[in-house]
Amino acid sequence: MIELNYFQQNFELSPTLAANETVNRLRAQGRTIIHMGFGQAPFPIHERLTKGLAEHAGNNKYLPAIGVDELREVIMSYYSDILDVNPETHDVVVAPGSKLILFAAQMAVKGDLLMPVPSWVSYAPQAHMLGTEVIKVPTRLDDDGYHIDPYSLQQAIDNAREQGFNPNKIILNYPNNPTGLTISDPELEAIAEVCVKNDILIISDEIYGLLSYDGIYRSVSEFAPKHTLVTTGLSKHMALGGWRMGLAIVPKAINGLTSLIQSIASETWSCVPSPVQYAVMEAYKRHKDVEQYIQDCCEIYSYLGTYIAEGLRKIGITCALPQGAFYVYPNFAPYREALLRKGVRTSEELVSYLLEAYGLVSLPGTAFGEEPEVLTMRLSCCDCDGTEVLQAYQNGEELNADFVARHAPNIDLGLKAFAACVDAQNVENFGTVISIRTPALVDA
Ligand code: PLP
Repeated sequence: MIELNYFQQNFELSPTLAANETVNRLRAQGRTIIHMGFGQAPFPIHERLTKGLAEHAGNNKYLPAIGVDELREVIMSYYSDILDVNPETHDVVVAPGSKLILFAAQMAVKGDLLMPVPSWVSYAPQAHMLGTEVIKVPTRLDDDGYHIDPYSLQQAIDNAREQGFNPNKIILNYPNNPTGLTISDPELEAIAEVCVKNDILIISDEIYGLLSYDGIYRSVSEFAPKHTLVTTGLSKHMALGGWRMGLAIVPKAINGLTSLIQSIASETWSCVPSPVQYAVMEAYKRHKDVEQYIQDCCEIYSYLGTYIAEGLRKIGITCALPQGAFYVYPNFAPYREALLRKGVRTSEELVSYLLEAYGLVSLPGTAFGEEPEVLTMRLSCCDCDGTEVLQAYQNGEELNADFVARHAPNIDLGLKAFAACVDAQNVENFGTVISIRTPALVDA
């Protein structure tokens, strides 16, 4: 018999990709679906990049495993304006997506992973694939952000050590997927202090760093430069998920880390596709039109995310106002009793109920490390025609409820579905929806 390696109990497709496949299948069957489940930037690619890709399509050569020098140099120059990094203190490594570089970073550093809950779906499965343990760290969420108490962090480290684990790395992510919240500078400083004291590597996932609604780029590397490896990429602020372009900024202070990641790269993915490496250089040259594109997209995410959060709050669902990225993370705890009467007890049951009754796709809190009874879910605000939305905004249309009704009508449909789900009365408050399509019942 051929035996398989099962890395975790329910080894299956990553939940975000699984949600997307469900949507594609149901839409192909002609169902009306409100897709709040997938964090995919909906906007069109900036034309400097499509042009660059066409120009370099003929480049079929392998490039260095950590990226061609010219690209690594423009990236270093770009990030040295934002972070306190320079070629003396840091290396730049590019990879086909930051997901792989997060995996390589986890692989390169011995020990178990400290993971704040909630956290993005892939950190824990990656840790399990590497045979390491995941040590959960509690967080608190509110309108001021995503809070990790330094005492709780220290306690999690101490408890884990007492139990024989070796917590040697932590992944922080802000603006955060799934919550849309960020971590303030004083709190990053306090977390950094604990990590430095305990000699823990901070893997700082800053993939949404340029989608911070207040325009401030925060990084824990400022407070722990020798202990922080930053990962980021172009999937989010440049809407380039499918191009697979991610990167790490690696501290030279950790001897051998860059060469170990280089070795992992050379034995696995070899290099980021050559045409992509040349095309994406345009994203790092501070072209005014590229910067404006990022800002426009960010303003749209900010409006749509806040619109959803406020809509949910109007009907009594707990939801912090987002500060970045393109997510909100409501908690249905105030409706626990009412939902129980509908047979809904866990976040997974809630998500299934919403899909079956209203054709609404979301991701349950369990995908982000929550216990099943915690009634949270992640919603993204990307279910719209991004080309139409961006064009309308750039043509001067104001971001308001009419804008949502005209260009992102599924958001209003989603809010109506939530209102129906919790039997809320004040549904008419959801913008000025001109014509409301009733979502088809999904019998899958
Ligand atoms: N980190 C977070 C928090 C994400 O949300 C994602 C994508 O959804 C990634 C990392 C991976 O992005 P990519 O591999 O496209 O760079």
